[in-house]
Amino acid sequence: MSSNRLSKKRQSRAKSNRRVAHGFKHSYSESDYRDHLVAECLPHFRTIRPRLLTWFRQHRRDFPWRRTFNWFHLLMAEMMLRRTRADQVLPVYLEFTRRYKTARSAGQADSGELDELFYTLGLHWRSKQLRSTIQYIQDNYNKRQPRTNLDFQSIPGVGDYSSAMIRSRLYGDRAAAIDSNVARFFARVSGLEPHPENRRNPYIIQLADAFVRGKYVRDLNIAIVDFAALVCLPRRPLCQSCPLRSYCATGKKNTSK
Ligand code: SF4
Repeated sequence: MSSNRLSKKRQSRAKSNRRVAHGFKHSYSESDYRDHLVAECLPHFRTIRPRLLTWFRQHRRDFPWRRTFNWFHLLMAEMMLRRTRADQVLPVYLEFTRRYKTARSAGQADSGELDELFYTLGLHWRSKQLRSTIQYIQDNYNKRQPRTNLDFQSIPGVGDYSSAMIRSRLYGDRAAAIDSNVARFFARVSGLEPHPENRRNPYIIQLADAFVRGKYVRDLNIAIVDFAALVCLPRRPLCQSCPLRSYCATGKKNTSK
């Protein structure tokens, strides 16, 4: 192998080690260390899970897309919620679901009519994307509804997060929906350093996968979303009043000062 190729290989290995380094302070095998950390967190999860669900039953946010089992409406809500606040989505979702009960009826609507409705979400590219999502569903899922991760991810605009959120809600699949807010929650609970790319960190993914399981799997993803929005806030988490503080690495640190 030429020295040039060798050097490129080393550079790429160093780069990948650096990527891992923000989360893993030790140099031994990444997967061994990850397994070790996850194993340390699992006993806490047995307590955190029911506590989180108890909190959720008392404080959950009520949105119409959380009450529906119409898969098309649920999927459209997830699409609309991307990078948009729930209060902005609410009137658009209500009007959309009032007008269109199925992808077929939405697909037959005049594109100007849909654009007018979606423009109020504030992002103009969104309207085009939502229309192509509707068109794809109309063409491919007219007679059956998507079931697997592969089905959902074949739909334009649907990624890991939306697929997991919808499947857990509709079918009770053990699928963790991880965005940056959910990743922040798991990073704090486990004591991992904050990082903007934590949602792609394999350790966070392993933790979230281990957490989203059990009888109440339909509620767990949205419970974490609400908890991250109302308690485990991005800048100033409310650790002093948090019901998970005794089981959370960051909570213990913040409340012992
Ligand atoms: S104790 Fe603090 S950091 Fe931990 S989950 Fe609660 S609010 Fe978040």
